Amino acid sequence: MVSSQSMTDVTGEAQRLREQLEAERHARLEAERLAAENARLLYDRQDELELLEMVAAASNEATAIEPALGAAIVHVCAHMRWPVGHAYLVDPTTNALASTGIWYLEDEGRYAAFRAASEQPELVPSLPSHVVASGESAWVTDFGEEPALQRAEVARAAGLRAGFAFPVLIGTRPAGVLEFFTGVPAAPDPALLHVMDQIGVQLGRVVERERARGELERSNADLEAFAYVASHDLAEPLRSVAGFVALLERQYGDRLDDRAREFIAYAVDGVQRMQRMIDDLLLYARAGTTDLRMERVPAGELVAAALRDLEAAVAERGAVVEVGELPTLRGDPGQLRRVFLNLLGNAIKFTAPGVAPRVAVSGVTADAGPEIAVADNGIGIDPAEAEQVFEMFARLPGRATHYQGTGLGLAISRRIVERHGGRLWMEPNDGGGSVFRLTLPLP
Ligand code: ADP
Repeated sequence: MVSSQSMTDVTGEAQRLREQLEAERHARLEAERLAAENARLLYDRQDELELLEMVAAASNEATAIEPALGAAIVHVCAHMRWPVGHAYLVDPTTNALASTGIWYLEDEGRYAAFRAASEQPELVPSLPSHVVASGESAWVTDFGEEPALQRAEVARAAGLRAGFAFPVLIGTRPAGVLEFFTGVPAAPDPALLHVMDQIGVQLGRVVERERARGELERSNADLEAFAYVASHDLAEPLRSVAGFVALLERQYGDRLDDRAREFIAYAVDGVQRMQRMIDDLLLYARAGTTDLRMERVPAGELVAAALRDLEAAVAERGAVVEVGELPTLRGDPGQLRRVFLNLLGNAIKFTAPGVAPRVAVSGVTADAGPEIAVADNGIGIDPAEAEQVFEMFARLPGRATHYQGTGLGLAISRRIVERHGGRLWMEPNDGGGSVFRLTLPLP
């Protein structure tokens, strides 16, 4: 028989068990909810990461800013499932923000009026103006509630309710703005804006790269124009100086003493040096602008051709030049031959008086491409000056008087190699002297 006491115990126990079960069920549901929420968050983050990756890839590949902006707009619209995206850029000379005319429009007809309102010249809408002034992203939760916004009316008429914009940044300086719109009111999403900020930085890099390239092209063109003018305008008076000095020597030579003839020789030498400088200046300018005639060419042929041009110097200095197995290169044969002519010419020229130059040309094809070394037993270059020698008119102090040159050979050579997508640098040679190394992309 069950006593009432134990009956109470049993019901109490059952009640506790029920409560415990209920609590466990609750905890399990909560855990499941949390897991689902985390999974969704993770999924969202994954999506955002993919968005960032896609924009980064498009930015890296872009050779101009417009396609990079276009790709970013399309990717962001696809990610958000938003129907409208648009880009503005700051004009670097006037600092004014203006529409690029680059859009993603899910429905061209429907958003035509909104587009026209956004592209009005001299009238930049308030959302991008605000972003460019503050350098920070901005969010419009509901156009209906912010009628003060310039495009609020036309946006609502097109069925657009919410939007956000973020700056394209170079450092902290806004270089443009991207804006996006949707048809439903949307609350600001700080995590999303963070991703957009990173996209803004990515695009800023493309703008920066583009502008640097534009400036380089302009300065190359300026330099070439200058070099042409200089070569024409200087060549003429130079020819006349050379002509009159020659005349002086021919007609008055027998009446001049040795000293006067020595002065004439200096004048002739000066004219020749100046002519070489003009020629080199022109070569330097052209190395940055003329189209490259890309061909596959064995480096051995280029070296042999350069050595033919240097025959007199080799004989005069008693130089010994060893040429090993050399790889095949891809590039403009005329320009690459000029590089070898400069490197070999220097290797023969810059030896101490009385020391016969010994030059070794060797090469390998590494995974990244062919690499060639020109090593000499010359006077060497202080590692602290290893970069300086590649600058224009760089002639190391104390040498200018002993060794003839314009100080442009290495600057020309580096310009040519870099335009081919390669590198040229100098290292000290183990046994004294220098090694000049160059790499080129795979042929
Ligand atoms: P240039 O030979 O006309 O003076 P380059 O541009 O070819 O001009 O070289 C710049 C300077 O670098 C030279 O004046 C010289 O001081 C130094 N240099 C170049 N090549 C060598 C070398 N192989 N050994 C030692 N010094 C060198």
